[in-house]
Amino acid sequence: MRQLLESTAARAIRYLEGLYGRQVAPGEDAIGEIPRFDESLPDDTTEAELILQMLDEVGSPASMAMAGPRFYGFVIGGSLPVALAANWLATAWDQNSALYQVTPATALIENVALRWLLDLLKLPSESGGAFVTGATVANFTALAAARHVVLEQVGWNVEAEGLFGAPPITVIVGEEAHPTLFKSLGLLGLGRSRVVKVSIDTQGRMRSESIPTIAGPTIICTQAGNVNTGGFDPIGTICDIAHEAGAWVHVDGAFGLWAATAPSRAYLTEDIKNADSWATDAHKWLNVPYDSGLAIVRDTDALRAAMAITAEYLPTSTPYRNPSDYTPELSRRSRGVEIWAALRHLGRKGVAELIERCCRHARRFAEELGKAGYQILNEVVLNQVLVSFGDPETTNRVIAAIQAEGTCWCGGTTWQGHTAMRISVSSWATTDDDVDRSIDAILRIVRHQSR
Ligand SMILES: *Cc1c(COP(=O)(O)O)cnc(C)c1O
Repeated sequence: MRQLLESTAARAIRYLEGLYGRQVAPGEDAIGEIPRFDESLPDDTTEAELILQMLDEVGSPASMAMAGPRFYGFVIGGSLPVALAANWLATAWDQNSALYQVTPATALIENVALRWLLDLLKLPSESGGAFVTGATVANFTALAAARHVVLEQVGWNVEAEGLFGAPPITVIVGEEAHPTLFKSLGLLGLGRSRVVKVSIDTQGRMRSESIPTIAGPTIICTQAGNVNTGGFDPIGTICDIAHEAGAWVHVDGAFGLWAATAPSRAYLTEDIKNADSWATDAHKWLNVPYDSGLAIVRDTDALRAAMAITAEYLPTSTPYRNPSDYTPELSRRSRGVEIWAALRHLGRKGVAELIERCCRHARRFAEELGKAGYQILNEVVLNQVLVSFGDPETTNRVIAAIQAEGTCWCGGTTWQGHTAMRISVSSWATTDDDVDRSIDAILRIVRHQSR
């Protein structure tokens, strides 16, 4: 066992060190090898070391260098070494982190991590939280608490009775809500399409004046950090309107919520604490390994009512909460350990520095590409930059060429009818030098492409 785990650690270290020099996207040759995994189930046992060798020799070169410093696709983020190391150790512990009495250390660590997160993100200290797989499930979890409360207010117990015959819930969303938010609504029986959509401005922010008159059970889903522009809905104003009418306000802040930790960006999240629930990712901007998201609900009892199972064989009264009373899952890994490790390592200042640095890098991209004559399509308020290189064909050709050249990796998107390349700077590993190298490569490629 020792030999296997040590050689695997050595492989992982070699892989990570190799990311600085290699192309970000895997090459055709490497991708050509992956069908080697596609074999029939063997009858016989194979030496464990050979299994790891195969994963490393075939899998590693065919991976996208998302853990490296120059991956700017989607909103991804790498893994802080301390978070990766904590993941390794906690995985070795193999704790089924459902119940305090059975796995006290991981239950307590998650409790502390939650308290620190509420402090760092400037959210109400009495809130309950759930460590889940990502923002999709965090939205689902928080909105389940919302569903519980707005129906309880009209005398309906949704956990017991379901939605058959229940009073209808009006769900209000911005036209630019993240696609996964609609999926979460679908999973909750609230419907992906039966929502009321509110119009948005040029940055994808909900126009609060377009929110319809609220009557009856209502949930308003707002967004902190549009996945294209980084824009924030006017959440403070929306909370005022909603709370006047007894509606619930949820915030999808998968990456945007982290703006609260950075002094120069905190203005973006000023009144977000007035909402009722929040969803965010730790695997994006906190740079912990997948999969790690967080649902936060001001009314802890509502979250518990939506998520707890009370079977008699499960111990209930404990000095620290049972994580499984707050999550969709019963058995689950102790993903809060990595979050704790990242926060314990970075401290308040380190988190702020990480967020500030990514925003600074994004601004440099926008300035340099703008100076070179290319159109920046968004107000760069956070870590997201949208750039057009001309007509859609040219922009798409440039994106493909950048991905093939391999210095960095950026994806494409369509923003309000314009084809654009999206640059998201979300990794601790990205340095000034990486930004220089990436800008040089992008400009070299775009000039060559538009010749
Ligand atoms: C990334 C993202 C999501 C989905 O998050 P997952 O972690 O992939 O489930 C939801 N909302 C927004 C705004 C996002 O940026």
